[in-house]
Amino acid sequence: MRRSIPASILAFALAFALMAASAAQAQGLTKIAENVYSYVGVKNDAPSHSYAANAGIVIGSDGVLVIDTLASAKEGKRLLKDIRAVTKKPIKYVVTTHGHFDHALGACVFTDLGATLVGHELDREYLAKRGEGLLKKPQMVGLTPADLAGTRIKLPTLTFTERMTIRLGTKANETVELIHLTPSHTAGSTLVYLPQQKVVFAGDVLFTDFHPFMGEGDIPGWVKTLDFIQDMDTTAIIPGHGPLSTKKDVADMRDYIQLFDAKAKELAAAGVNGGAKDPASLAAELKKLLPARSQGQGMVQYNFMIKYLPAKN
Ligand SMILES: [Zn+2]
Repeated sequence: MRRSIPASILAFALAFALMAASAAQAQGLTKIAENVYSYVGVKNDAPSHSYAANAGIVIGSDGVLVIDTLASAKEGKRLLKDIRAVTKKPIKYVVTTHGHFDHALGACVFTDLGATLVGHELDREYLAKRGEGLLKKPQMVGLTPADLAGTRIKLPTLTFTERMTIRLGTKANETVELIHLTPSHTAGSTLVYLPQQKVVFAGDVLFTDFHPFMGEGDIPGWVKTLDFIQDMDTTAIIPGHGPLSTKKDVADMRDYIQLFDAKAKELAAAGVNGGAKDPASLAAELKKLLPARSQGQGMVQYNFMIKYLPAKN
């Protein structure tokens, strides 16, 4: 009898864990405003699950605009299946917030359906340089060849440098604005704004509860872009990774990248001058100085090594 109690607790705990796991699998799109849905992948940050990158859609009279397409053809198909559960309208546009693979490589699924791929000129250039190499060496980003089966690099055919407006119909709430101020997370990182619904898809300018990837970032430009979001009229903010966010998350992100930048520079200079410490222990010291974030733990060392430590030749 004594032993049956822990066994039943264990069974209950196991059943609960399985339930939680299946809930995490069932993603689906979430309506966040009139015609606007977010696709938020927080629960599974495996590389094959696009490092939990987010996406979204806007549905207009004339068709659908997709914001970001995840890490691969396989992942793009997952998104497409969930879009089809919400709308059967044609997919007219795909906007890629930036050229990183976890947001951009599912685009081939949508261009095959006739969608026009839209992106910033500089991130088009980035993907043109890096994309094919990544398909040949998927291990560079933690993926396997099987993860990238069927994936082809598709570059935007419609590009812009500062602003672009896309209209999915004639109604005010069918207007989508693409905004690029300055280099931030990447050279061409773009905000997607629905002025009527007051919704902004921030792409990787905003990571919430994730340690961000900063290795290719421009810190002053990034701060400026976060300040711009802070001043925007918004009812919902969708980050590139993490849950639906608030202005507080935007402020926290600003603090995080500024603190990271200042402390990483100090530690790198002290480490290099002292000469004694290896990058892993310097990064561990850095992590202690940063606010806790539950996801993307390995990113602290990665950012530190590629952005702040001089390459050893
Ligand atoms: Zn990114």
